[in-house]
Amino acid sequence: MSERFVIALDQGTTSSRAVLVDHDAQMVDFVQRPFTQIYPQPGWVEHNPQEILFSQLGSLTELLARHNLSEKDIAGIGIDNQRETTIVWDPSTGQPIANAIVWQCRRTADLVQRLCGNPSVARTIRSKTGLLPDAYFSASKIAWLLDNIPGARERAEAGELLFGTVDTYLIWVLTGGLVHATDPTNASRTMLYNIHEGMWDDELLELFNVPKSMMPEVRPSSGSFGETSYPGVPAGIPICGVAGDQQASLFGQCCFAPGQAKNTYGTGCFLLMNTGEEAVDSANQLVTTIAASAPNARHTEYALEGSVFVGGAVMQWVRDELGLIHTAAESESLAATVPNTGGVYVVPAFTGLGAPWWEADARGTICGITRGTNRAHLVRAALESIAYQVSDLVRAMEADAGRPIDVLNVDGGASANNLLMQFQADILDRKLHRPQNIETTALGAAYLAGLGCGFWKDTEELVAMRANDDVFTATMDREQAEELLYGWAKAVKRTIA
Ligand code: ADP
Repeated sequence: MSERFVIALDQGTTSSRAVLVDHDAQMVDFVQRPFTQIYPQPGWVEHNPQEILFSQLGSLTELLARHNLSEKDIAGIGIDNQRETTIVWDPSTGQPIANAIVWQCRRTADLVQRLCGNPSVARTIRSKTGLLPDAYFSASKIAWLLDNIPGARERAEAGELLFGTVDTYLIWVLTGGLVHATDPTNASRTMLYNIHEGMWDDELLELFNVPKSMMPEVRPSSGSFGETSYPGVPAGIPICGVAGDQQASLFGQCCFAPGQAKNTYGTGCFLLMNTGEEAVDSANQLVTTIAASAPNARHTEYALEGSVFVGGAVMQWVRDELGLIHTAAESESLAATVPNTGGVYVVPAFTGLGAPWWEADARGTICGITRGTNRAHLVRAALESIAYQVSDLVRAMEADAGRPIDVLNVDGGASANNLLMQFQADILDRKLHRPQNIETTALGAAYLAGLGCGFWKDTEELVAMRANDDVFTATMDREQAEELLYGWAKAVKRTIA
């Protein structure tokens, strides 16, 4: 094979990146371009779809030019993307009818309450889509665009408009308008897709008044999404891998088997566990979602997903609002100057507490302060709060799945913090594996593309290439760990009270 690379288009919430990956699954280079965050009103968040597009295409062409690469050198392109963000466009002109409504945008909260407030409707949505009704998902965002952009509903009903999450829009543009498609992981975040039957759900489309003709075709995450055919981009490169960012990261962590799980320590934390062909129903309000599968998968594969709202963001708060550190990374050396927090707990419930507590009205608390409490104790307590929250989430997920997470694969910016990772292993009493390349999201998209075009043979080949993870094993005395966890549970109780 003359081709030497696959490229991941890593389309995130604040920037677009093109990542070059070689046959040994090494990240050779990347180009990153940020784009504008648009806040038209409090609680509203938009992106300009064309700015997303040009940041993404710009990063791709710069990467190719930098390495003097042509279509012959690229076996395939994979896309991973910010999920749920909604774009509606006119295929006759290629023009979006409005800015993209971003996943964080709360403008449709009342609409969701009105349409899904009835418990039986909420149960139907839950059982069909695996999701808890929320403005976060695409369904109400599409409805909002059709009802608020003049003429949009008529045009949509006449079959003149298309909907897509960001992956779909990029594929449509890159294939010169030939392919209007998404993958099951992205489809499963729209709240319009029946994850058990694997199709757009007529009842939900009707509930949100979305014409079926707008919806993209759903193709396997690893397979054919057409070829590049866009001015300025080398023609004929297959697009052959697509997944939403969190599912891409689960795949990039090689969590191919049931029971394997990963946690991403970013601004928030995202825990996903592969549950194989079983779509596990959560008793802890975690969501059930579709996982990305290799081409040879015989069944749809599912995952349980839960998140911590304030993860690495607590260190930004300690840095920017309290001024206790200059950089997030400094938290590690400062926290290491004290053996423990001296009984101090920080519960960063800035926007409420998620799983398994689900207290939307809770607000942050610091407790256990004494005359001897200093800066290092506070910073350490903030850092440890990330691990305690993840620990609560892991326990909830293990209970739902009915199996322990023996090894937790970790990634994301804050996973670089060794003290945090060791403390996490200690209180969880689980092994943590941190890959050398913590850019697992882009790697997942590259893997899906590489498997889709035969660049790599199978998932075993991918597993074999993953070497020398950093491993963190619990070393803390169990009694001590239980005592700390007891203190955390008490601090959470005070936060809720
Ligand atoms: P995102 O993708 O959500 O933007 P990243 O994966 O880039 O996030 O991680 C950034 C987050 O991790 C920030 O909230 C930052 O405060 C935190 N962070 C980064 N490095 C460290 C570190 N060494 N120790 C603790 N937290 C860190």
